[in-house]
Amino acid sequence: MKFILITILIFAFSFNYGQKLKIAVFYNQKISSIIISTYLGKYEIWGDEQFFTDLKQNDVFQCTILNDSIEIKNVSGLSRKFKQIELRGAASINVAKYKPIIPSLSQRYYDDNMTISIQNGSLFFLNFVEMDNYICGVVESESGYQVSKEFYKTQAILCRTFALENIGKHYSEGFHLCDGVHCQAYKGKNYSLSYHSIISEAVTETHDLVIVDSSNMVITAAFHANCGGQTVNSEDVWGKPKSYLRSVTDNYCQYQRNSQWEKSISMNEWQQFLLNNYPQLATKNYSWSFYQTTRKGYFRINNDSIWLRKVREYFQLRSTFFSIYQHNDSIVFKGKGFGHGVGLCQDGAIQMAKKGFNAIDIIRFYYKNVKIISFKEIPFYQSILPSN
Ligand SMILES: [Zn+2]
Ligand SMILES: [Zn+2]
Repeated sequence: MKFILITILIFAFSFNYGQKLKIAVFYNQKISSIIISTYLGKYEIWGDEQFFTDLKQNDVFQCTILNDSIEIKNVSGLSRKFKQIELRGAASINVAKYKPIIPSLSQRYYDDNMTISIQNGSLFFLNFVEMDNYICGVVESESGYQVSKEFYKTQAILCRTFALENIGKHYSEGFHLCDGVHCQAYKGKNYSLSYHSIISEAVTETHDLVIVDSSNMVITAAFHANCGGQTVNSEDVWGKPKSYLRSVTDNYCQYQRNSQWEKSISMNEWQQFLLNNYPQLATKNYSWSFYQTTRKGYFRINNDSIWLRKVREYFQLRSTFFSIYQHNDSIVFKGKGFGHGVGLCQDGAIQMAKKGFNAIDIIRFYYKNVKIISFKEIPFYQSILPSN
């Protein structure tokens, strides 16, 4: 197992000139035509490994699939066909704009280099990007709205930890991570975002930092929107205990938008759920009531146990932290929190940051017995990472 991991990590880093990652972007979007222009710096366009032309400020190119090639052309009529096109950054900071035309999607900004080829009849984009530029884009996607810098620093450390933990996820496809929620949402950097520069600073200030457990292994940095006042032991949701994913009481996330919820279903729907999953309970005429003041994994009734995660998934509830009561011919779920509840609670972390806690305090509150270190200090990575 360790050998496979080492092989993957050698693949991950040694061919990539330092801390760069290969991220498949517009993954699964099935784009057949796109307009590309330079936003910052300058680019060289290479076609099938040969220099083709410069892409200077205000130059605009369109790339379109034509049979099994990519046709690249500009407004002045310059046009060529290639199997693969590469945008290579030629200044110290290089950012290009990508506006899909077929289908029409919103414009994105990607830092650093981009390789475009054809896969399964669609354009296939690989962003060869500095790790911190990638982390910055992920933090923008995962955090969304304007909060304090310490929260963004916390989120940057989490996203970097996640990226390293999952670096081998798309190994067989020749890249590291995709840009969907399967890995981490990454839509490039949004330069028009009013708080873009705060996120950039937060990423720079936490450069290289990751969270490790007592064995110096990067952790599963799980997080969720709101825990409802108590986080969950990992085994109650994923069946596997992790020493650092322990339930903690969280007084910081109350009175937030996602801290309370309610959902009502008909008794028939409840009976149908039982018939599908716990048929032995469906025929019994119980008076349904169940209370959670502290988190439970199961609703125990006589000798049976209903797994709360199953109830949440079946009825698409916001969390497993709910009580149940019967009201006439309905079953009412009265719940707290939003998300799986494991690891860091984002609403709680935002409030902690507002109260003056720093990113390290916040991480240590939600993950038990962990250290925050540079991943270059980990002997395991040190031996295989280029030093730059
Ligand atoms: Zn993925
Ligand atoms: Zn919370």
